[in-house]
Formats: sequence, structure tokens, C-alpha cells
Amino acid sequence: MNRLSRRDTIKGLALGAVAGLGAPFGFAAGNVSARGAEVQKRAGEAKPVREEIVWSRKVPVRHVADVAVIGGGIAGVAAACAAVKSGAKVVLVERFAITGGNMTTGGVAAFCGETAGQGEVFDEILTDMEKFKAVAPYKPYPQLDHRVFDHHILAIVLQELLLRRKVKLLFHTRFVDVRVTDGGRITECIVCGKSGPEALRAKQFIDCTGDADVARTAGFATMKGRPEDGLQLPMSMMFFVRHVEEGLAGAQLPEGWFQPCRTPQELPMTSVWPNGPRSNAIKVKIPMFDSTDTESLTAAEVRARQRAWEVLDYYQRRKAEPWRYDGCSPQIGIREGARIVGDYVLALADLRAARKFDDAIARGVYYLDGHKPDDDKRTYILKKDEMKVPPYQIPLRSLIAKDGANLLMAGRCFSAEQLALSSARVSTSCAMMGQAAGIAAALSAQKQCDVRKLDPQAVRRIIEERGARLAV
Ligand SMILES: Cc1cc2nc3c(=O)[nH]c(=O)nc-3n(C[C@H](O)[C@H](O)[C@H](O)COP(=O)(O)OP(=O)(O)OC[C@H]3O[C@@H](n4cnc5c(N)ncnc54)[C@H](O)[C@@H]3O)c2cc1C
Repeated sequence: MNRLSRRDTIKGLALGAVAGLGAPFGFAAGNVSARGAEVQKRAGEAKPVREEIVWSRKVPVRHVADVAVIGGGIAGVAAACAAVKSGAKVVLVERFAITGGNMTTGGVAAFCGETAGQGEVFDEILTDMEKFKAVAPYKPYPQLDHRVFDHHILAIVLQELLLRRKVKLLFHTRFVDVRVTDGGRITECIVCGKSGPEALRAKQFIDCTGDADVARTAGFATMKGRPEDGLQLPMSMMFFVRHVEEGLAGAQLPEGWFQPCRTPQELPMTSVWPNGPRSNAIKVKIPMFDSTDTESLTAAEVRARQRAWEVLDYYQRRKAEPWRYDGCSPQIGIREGARIVGDYVLALADLRAARKFDDAIARGVYYLDGHKPDDDKRTYILKKDEMKVPPYQIPLRSLIAKDGANLLMAGRCFSAEQLALSSARVSTSCAMMGQAAGIAAALSAQKQCDVRKLDPQAVRRIIEERGARLAV
């Protein structure tokens, strides 16, 4: 199966790639879930195919590596750094100008769960953040649920860490396509940056896109959302305010714009976070969109920016907060995209039972933070007393794409049930998975073998020698 020459579907432009997005959604104020449902339905519905074309072109093989990491979120950064330490030549592909993913471009500025014993990559991140005085002091989980940090500083810390480790960085470069052999071996992936389309050849690939972009493009099995209807955990938008003198305060949203919240009942789930001196970050829940659907994601971004203003107006007008708008994060925060079906799908029952795995490579402790997919209020899939889990293990098999011969994954697109992901998606566990995937990929590349042929105990030993605590 050569995916460089492929049939591709052109969606009829006349259908409008973002049809109706700028228009009001036509629902009563406060009924935000319904608005979201409308937009997602419109975005996700099957569209008539007007025309199909076949496209193919020659592209230069510009990059050759032992390990290619696609996606530079916290998982991708950890994977790339760990693979280099294990002797691999590593290229990291990131579509934005900075690494960190949700933790930087998504504006999420807290490390949830246990921050000690996550492995030496995460330790180095923390040490550098501490040097910048940019992270809250350590306390063990659950005494402290999360450690807040400055997400602007994290961007520079991650960048310098990658450079120190001599990871080859490709910014403003998007993963586009793969060439896959019949045996599920990826030979090259096609990336596109400002130089145009290029091939990246590697022995091992790690999908850290959060949305399983590599696996989905390769045609490997993926899953998403809750079992009954595929609805994913909701997204949230982070926006920022700075505190101003009383005289400068007041409502900013012009009359007639959007549908501002007038009562507390109309507010979506809204969390106000510290964001340095005289500043706050505000997180607003945006349910019912799909980050793996171009039009639905576009609609989510549009709706989220409107919603931020509807919420801000409430705080400025009704609560008389002396806040001025200080920007939105460049992209909406995505809790769940698509998950890759691995050799093992980590189950909720495994977490509850603190199941031990022979091939354990990471450990999670965070509670089951499963926001209800179809609701914008502070609602959860589980009752409060059902959310706690004991420390649990994640097996290497959950980081190996079932249909692939050389594709690993780490972070929020790993192989897990939705509720298992609701805990393991926190940054600490994602970093741990990344470190493990990087080590395993580097070893496979060196030994020129399938990752499944590695001795899992040997992988585990290296992970533990590098400071990760795996025992439960
Ligand atoms: C609103 C919200 C609040 C959260 N709060 C917390 C919290 O307080 N504490 C905590 O620990 N966790 C929190 N989380 C969870 C955590 O932020 C994420 O699950 C975690 O950061 C995921 O890391 P990742 O590396 O797997 O994915 P991501 O952070 O999503 O990174 C994926 C990266 O891949 C890149 N990418 C994607 N597709 C492509 C492509 N085709 N080509 C090239 N690059 C690509 C992206 O640009 C991105 O940099 C929160 C999540 C959300 C959404």
C-alpha cells in the first residue's frame, strides 16, 4: 500500500468548509450544549462527494533518522529526549512554532498528579522551571493535586532541553501522510513545512499528535469517544485577563455581540486560575466537538473564542471584576482526540484493580477526570466517590500500534478506554509514556527489530534507572 500516491477526496468548496460558522447558531442563550451539538452535527455529518482526484508527486527524502517523533507536546518532547539518550538520531516534527502542545499552546499551566519519580526528562523540565522560579513548590500527590507553572516559560524550557539533547527540530511542519508497506511498516512520512512537502525516513515512528494523526493516515485501527456514541471528552478554552485600576475597568464586549451570560446558571464550567501577578487564566468548557474533524475543530475554535467573551462579559458586568481581556491561548485545549488501538487496550478495570503488568513502563495516580462529553457544566461521567483510583501501571503493549510494525504512540492518543484515558491523559503520565516510547523506539532501531521482540524487563530496567517510579 503506497500512500504517497493515493486517492484523495476533495470536499466540494461550494459546501463551504466552515459553512455558517460566523453566523449566530440560533439557540437560546444558556443552551450551549445544544448549540455545540448543532455545530458538531453539521461538521461531522457525511458530506456528498462531488468529485475525486488522484494526486501523486515526487518529494525529496530530506530527513533520515533512527526515530521520528510526530508531535511535540509533553509526550513528544519526552519521547525525543529519551530516544536521543538511548543513542538514536531523532527528528521531532511539530506543526506550531513551539513545543509543549496543550501545556503551552493550549494554555494549560499545571502539572497534575505526582510530579516526583516521573523520569529524568520530566525531572530536568522541573529543575529548569524551578531555576526560572516558574513552578509551584513540590508536594506529593494527592496532598497537592496540581503544580501550577508559567506556560510561556515552559515553552523556552522545552525548546532548550531539546536543543541540549541534540534533537533535530522541524517547526511549522505538519505531518501529512505516510508510506506503509503491506506488513504495516512505515517507511517514510511526508511532512510539509515552509520548504514544501518532504519525506522523513526513519526506522521507528512515534505518534505523539494527541489525535492519532499518523495511525489514522496509515489506516491503522483507532477509536474515539465514549462507547455508545463516540462523543469525546469536552474541550476547554483558556483565556487570560489582567487586572486594571478601578477607573479603567468595565465591560468591553460591544452591545449586540454574541449572547453574553447574564446569570450564574448561564455560565459554562468556568475555572479561574492564577496566572502570575495581577493576572488570571480562565478556563471555559466547550463540549460536543471533534478534534479529528477539520470542520468540527474549526467550529470549536470559533465557538470557544465567542464563549470566552460571553463569560468575560459576565465577570466584568455582573461581578464588577476589574479585568481586561489579555488574549486567548492560540489553540483550544483538547482532552481527547482519537486513541490508537494498541496490542493492549488499557481498561478502566485495570486501573481500579491496580493491575500489575510484566511490561509496565509508566505509572498513573490521578483520579478519573472524565468530564461528561455532552454537557458544558461542571459534570462528570462518574460520581465523586467513584473517581479515585489506586496507583496503576501502563504496559508497553498499550504504546504499540496493533496494526503497525514500527509505530509506537505516547500521550493522550495511547491505547486506552476513554475512562482510563481520563486519568492517564495528565501531563505527568504523558511524559512518562513519552520517555518509555522513546527508549523502546531507540532500542528497536539499534537492534533492527520489532519493538515486540525487545525484552520488556530490559526496557523497564532502563526506565527505572532513569528515575521513573513504576512500582504500585
Ligand atoms: C483544558 C485542559 C485542561 C487540562 N488540565 C491539565 C492540568 O491541569 N494538568 C495536567 O497535567 N494535564 C492537564 N490536561 C491534560 C494535558 O494537558 C494533556 O492531556 C497533555 O498535555 C497531552 O499531551 P500530549 O503530548 O499527549 O498531546 P498534546 O499536548 O496535544 O500535543 C500534541 C502535539 O502534536 C502536535 N501535532 C498534532 N498534530 C500534528 C501534525 N499533524 N503534525 C505535526 N504536529 C502535530 C500539536 O501541535 C502538539 O504540539 C488538560 C487538558 C485540557 C485540554
